[in-house]
Amino acid sequence: MPARSTSFDVAIVGSGFGGAAAALACVRAGLRTVVVERGGWPERDTDDWSPRGILLDQRYRDKVAFESRLYGHGSVRIERPNSVVGGNSVFYGGAAMRLRETDFARWPLDYSELSPYYDEAERILGVHGVAGSDPFDPPRDHPYPHKSIDYSTPARRIHVAAESIGCRPFPLPLAINFTDETEPLCLRCTTCDGFPCKLEAKNDVTRTFLRLAVDEGLTIVAHTRVDRIAVAGRRASRLICVDRAGRAGVEIEADTIVVAAGALQSPALLLRSGLGAHEAVGRYLMRHCNTIVTCLFPFETNPEGTFHKQVCVTDLYEDVRVRDGVAVGVIQDIYTPAPEVMRHYAPRWGRWLINLTHKRLQNLLCVAEDEPRVENAVTLTDRLDEEGLPVIRVTHDYTDADCARNSLLSDRAKDILKAAGGRVPYRHRLDTFSHALGTLRMTTSENDGPVDRTGRLRAADNVYVTDSSVFPTSAGVNPSLTVAANAMRIGEGIARG
Ligand SMILES: Cc1cc2nc3c(=O)[nH]c(=O)nc-3n(C[C@H](O)[C@H](O)[C@H](O)COP(=O)(O)OP(=O)(O)OC[C@H]3O[C@@H](n4cnc5c(N)ncnc54)[C@H](O)[C@@H]3O)c2cc1C
Ligand code: SF4
Repeated sequence: MPARSTSFDVAIVGSGFGGAAAALACVRAGLRTVVVERGGWPERDTDDWSPRGILLDQRYRDKVAFESRLYGHGSVRIERPNSVVGGNSVFYGGAAMRLRETDFARWPLDYSELSPYYDEAERILGVHGVAGSDPFDPPRDHPYPHKSIDYSTPARRIHVAAESIGCRPFPLPLAINFTDETEPLCLRCTTCDGFPCKLEAKNDVTRTFLRLAVDEGLTIVAHTRVDRIAVAGRRASRLICVDRAGRAGVEIEADTIVVAAGALQSPALLLRSGLGAHEAVGRYLMRHCNTIVTCLFPFETNPEGTFHKQVCVTDLYEDVRVRDGVAVGVIQDIYTPAPEVMRHYAPRWGRWLINLTHKRLQNLLCVAEDEPRVENAVTLTDRLDEEGLPVIRVTHDYTDADCARNSLLSDRAKDILKAAGGRVPYRHRLDTFSHALGTLRMTTSENDGPVDRTGRLRAADNVYVTDSSVFPTSAGVNPSLTVAANAMRIGEGIARG
């Protein structure tokens, strides 16, 4: 059967922060734009708040898995990423933080160039925050669009404890609709980080960038996997795709192609398309060095079962900058996973303990900057996946310095939890690729990275990259707001021609 074919000014692969924000910039400039997404739309039903359905059965997991090799171990893990319109924004925790001026030292642009796009991204995402409350807040031209809401009891406990040991905690900026009664309002539940919001009160990109872009004429083609980009010489002409519902071929012609399939899939797409000649394609993968520190309390920590991902501590952020040239990172309040999820991951001998202790736990998330290393990479194997494409392999390990930065944060997190009344601290390493970054790094020098400061792939005249792949360094804060701001910046550049 011949492939169905359509034609646009701009064709974007992936509908996460990078694809959605670039799409809005393009349609606002009058460009006929399509976003092609391999996943379907979020269901927004009761199962979206089911810990089993989302975290264990993974109802949004993709048909196609990739392999990972972590920490220098020989063993291979099989991972099934979520696929959905909106990408990881649908599952994210809503923390919306800016990189600091110092974080741009190895970027081909500086903070002041991104600042107006941060303003616009915060406005579109409806971020609640308090300007100037973060001791390392970069300069800003506008206050946050909305004030932070009052702390819940568990969040206040962390704030008070952090202050008592000399930290300067502040309300975590959040892209959640707490106050606009014309839109679905947040119920302040605990199935937020890691789950789609059934009510659509989390301001993920389906509620924000994509909705605005569709109003201005954006076409979204869901359930369609882009297999490769057709290239002749230095020009890309079309996306070669498969409609996964009908397994039919689809071809989408466009003057400009935007790659925004996420930091694991974007380099794989370029490698499949013969656009991987630059030696840094797929290399320098970062994912932050993340841990959760847990303490047991002599009382129930959240008897009302309320939302409390509300507090952030940045006091250690610049502590190693002069010596190492990187940030340490941040500490943030985070919910306790459901008991069935904890039992699933606990060692067999420890499962009975979960029932006894679950309600008495409180946790802090530590996000440390990790260094870009050429050895950490996305590559293609010579075996084929269920849909006939080369299986992706992801290799990643941390440096001792990455782990040391995380230890600085974890030790401070333990001190905060102990000051709040917690005992028996336990540190749990996060193995996920939720903060995957850097595999198509944006650099000043052609030798250092495959993407230039305008987001253009150096190997082609009309291919751009707008997602988390372009980060040359990971910085020490959650990445989504920077992905969105940078994608709008690149999208505007595409529109200007
Ligand atoms: C549980 C969780 C919590 C998080 N919490 C936060 C937070 O609180 N704050 C924060 O800043 N960040 C958070 N993050 C990280 C943040 O969500 C990501 O950094 C960000 O969403 C990355 O956006 P992206 O556009 O680069 O990629 P993605 O969101 O991964 O989007 C890529 C899209 O491309 C699609 N795709 C891939 N391959 C193809 C293909 N071949 N054809 C078609 N489509 C394809 C994918 O299905 C996906 O929809 C969290 C992430 C997770 C998983
Ligand atoms: S906390 Fe609010 S935004 Fe998050 S899932 Fe619950 S209702 Fe939705």
